[in-house]
Amino acid sequence: MRRLAPFLLAAVMTSTAAAQDLAADAAAVRDRAMADRTAWDIAESLTSEVGARPVGTSAMTRARDWASAKLTALGFENVRVEPFTTKAWIRGDERAEIVGPWPQRLAILGLGGSAPTPKGGLSAEIVVFRTYQAMLDQPPGALKGKIAVVTQAMPRTQDASGYGATNAQRFQGPTEAARRGAAGYLVRSLSTDDTRLPHTGMGGWPGIPAAALSTPDAELLERLAARGQPVIVRLEMNSRVIPQAPAWNVSGEIRGSERPDEVIVVGGHLDSWDPGTGAIDDAAGIAITTAAAKLAGADRPKRTIRVVMWGSEEQGGASEAYAKAHAEEIGRMVVVGESDLGSGRIWRASLPAGGLDHPAMRAFAAAVTPLGVMIARTPPQHPGSDLQATAAAGAPFIQFGQDASRYFDLHHSADDTLDKIDPEDLAQCAAVWASFLRVVANSEVDFRALGKAGAP
Ligand code: ZN
Ligand code: ZN
Repeated sequence: MRRLAPFLLAAVMTSTAAAQDLAADAAAVRDRAMADRTAWDIAESLTSEVGARPVGTSAMTRARDWASAKLTALGFENVRVEPFTTKAWIRGDERAEIVGPWPQRLAILGLGGSAPTPKGGLSAEIVVFRTYQAMLDQPPGALKGKIAVVTQAMPRTQDASGYGATNAQRFQGPTEAARRGAAGYLVRSLSTDDTRLPHTGMGGWPGIPAAALSTPDAELLERLAARGQPVIVRLEMNSRVIPQAPAWNVSGEIRGSERPDEVIVVGGHLDSWDPGTGAIDDAAGIAITTAAAKLAGADRPKRTIRVVMWGSEEQGGASEAYAKAHAEEIGRMVVVGESDLGSGRIWRASLPAGGLDHPAMRAFAAAVTPLGVMIARTPPQHPGSDLQATAAAGAPFIQFGQDASRYFDLHHSADDTLDKIDPEDLAQCAAVWASFLRVVANSEVDFRALGKAGAP
């Protein structure tokens, strides 16, 4: 070692010793988490005892009560239920069929925000577009009275970028079809599977009926349209809207032993779509972060760890409500993160800018490298939809990328059920989050300062 002034040497030795402690501690928490069943038990409990939980339904009220009881039973303090209201779309009976020239049923699921069909249903000729752009290229009025059908397939990717590349056809497609005069809109499900189960999701508020087709039904309509004869489809869709549905963000804490006002905020979303039981989306995220917080907080680390179960992600509203209710403390949030990409293993961790320069984050990296996690060279782009408003208000955020290769086989479909979760994968995710929470809660890492130091 180069010769250093004694006081400097002491400082270096202290910080080295502290970093070694953090690393050993993170590894110990990691190993406990890998052998722990808490995450699985939470996912099993939520999907079995509540099931599907769309905002605006009585299941959401049961989910709220489940959440506060579960956090309390797990030993969290300051369990809070923070109410807000949001616009909720509730599915009714739905039916779609080809009327002619070759009558047969179609498997559909209405998109959130869809208008109901008129009494007696809606029958119209379809116009099939094999890409979303081909529909956008149509001038205003070009689809007058027709049912527009977009059949572009979503590619399978590890990092969910296939969803990002195609989800405009579901989020904005209905509105864009309505702008061009369409009377209805059908979109190939944002799905990577080939089952006859459609995948739902928000579709904006287009003012026309809009639904997702299963993959085989989208391909059927492509083939029929290619025959050149007019194809008539009949839709009958019912739904209702609650303009101000009650919703709740539920949270619990492990208060810090030395600096309780410095808060680490993690969580997942409590609400789900209706066809499955919301297992991978997002009972898994709730389970991973809650189990991780309990494991990391076992002997009360220095900073506070808070778990939040956001109450309206799918139809929106939870993010804004949370940031508004916590506006005054966002400046004291050390770091925030949401788990909302299923139960696949974490393969990439993205830390706030400059994060890797800190010994605590090097301790984290050392703990999770054996779990197959690589540390991204670039900071994260997305905090998770429930943390968007909080991150926009200045909270540093992380993103732990899970293997999403199979996620969109199941996402928002009737196949999103508990049996699709692999307990070992879930434990790996909890272990990564627990290691992270542990080193952040027991160190002085300041992501805001690191970000400024690293800025050009
Ligand atoms: Zn989700
Ligand atoms: Zn979702």
